[in-house]
Amino acid sequence: MISFYPGPSKLNSHIKSFMAEAVDTGLLSVNHRSDTFMQMMAETKKNVSTYLKLPKGYEIVFTSSATECWEIVSKSLVKGLSMHIFNGSFGEKWFQFAHKIKRGSEEYIFKLQEPLPVDELLLPLMTEVVCITQNETSNGTQVAPSIFTYLRQQSPGTLIAVDATSSMAGINLPYADADVWLASVQKCFGMPSGLGIMILSPKAIERAREINERDRYNSLSPMLDFSIQNQTPYTPNVLNIFLLGKVTSQMGTQQDNSDLIKKRAATFYSFLENSSLYKPLIQNAEVRSDTVIAIKSSADKVSSARKQAEKAGYLLGKGYGRWAEDTFRIANFPAHTTEELDELMQLLHDIDR
Ligand SMILES: *Cc1c(COP(=O)(O)O)cnc(C)c1O
Repeated sequence: MISFYPGPSKLNSHIKSFMAEAVDTGLLSVNHRSDTFMQMMAETKKNVSTYLKLPKGYEIVFTSSATECWEIVSKSLVKGLSMHIFNGSFGEKWFQFAHKIKRGSEEYIFKLQEPLPVDELLLPLMTEVVCITQNETSNGTQVAPSIFTYLRQQSPGTLIAVDATSSMAGINLPYADADVWLASVQKCFGMPSGLGIMILSPKAIERAREINERDRYNSLSPMLDFSIQNQTPYTPNVLNIFLLGKVTSQMGTQQDNSDLIKKRAATFYSFLENSSLYKPLIQNAEVRSDTVIAIKSSADKVSSARKQAEKAGYLLGKGYGRWAEDTFRIANFPAHTTEELDELMQLLHDIDR
């Protein structure tokens, strides 16, 4: 079965041999304070940083999930007010978590079919962190790089935190234009779940140091202390940290993957525009996601497409949140091949006839 679920999804094709390597070399039995572990973690951070082309001075911290990173932002980088700007379920969940932790958190909901209206946005004066979901996995929209550039220029004193869980490692992202980039590995990295990645700019690191929150096992300031020494506060997901280093050294370049994914997304959307049964949920091409394609039809057509695809060996993603009934979702991640996406389009085309 080939999974087009937008996470967990199809695995990178080398995962099995990388896992065997982790077992055979004894890595999974070494202590996480040992030189062997620290060298491995240093290698992984270097490979991630090289693949993503992170700007100088950015630091990588490993967590257990993207959700954990949301909580860390609220606990360790916000004293009072974070502003959450979203149009879908993941952005909303992030806001709800944040609001439980810091009552001063605010939300701004923008329209599904329109770009984030960054020039109309009036950030409250006290805003410490602006939180944006770059790729909204629930509805297949994305926020363009220019939005981050603009925000950065308009609000130089405010940290920008970005949930890029379903786009990081898939498409190029403007890392220099935001301060916190969070993700987990079961989406575009093509890995098993259970590892979160938090990328921090020098400004975010400085803020974490100023606030210096140290109350919990995953407080950011001590996590940074450990990470700088290529360690983690608790016994981490050693296997996944190893796999991440392997995967990012083997994936080719981010530029090539990004170009390919964008090209395939354009092909898929134009197929949908010409289909009579299926329509892109997002009509405005300007805000469509490249990595998660949301497809709209009637509820019974959605369920029959998923069933017929499953018979043919393709697992399609269910709709999510308020789009659960009348949409399904297709992941267009680096682990997927162009042939697989072509076959899937052919199958949908055949159902359509
Ligand atoms: C999948 C996803 C998450 C949650 O990831 P976890 O690893 O389950 O915490 C958060 N945000 C977005 C945009 C996602 O796609």
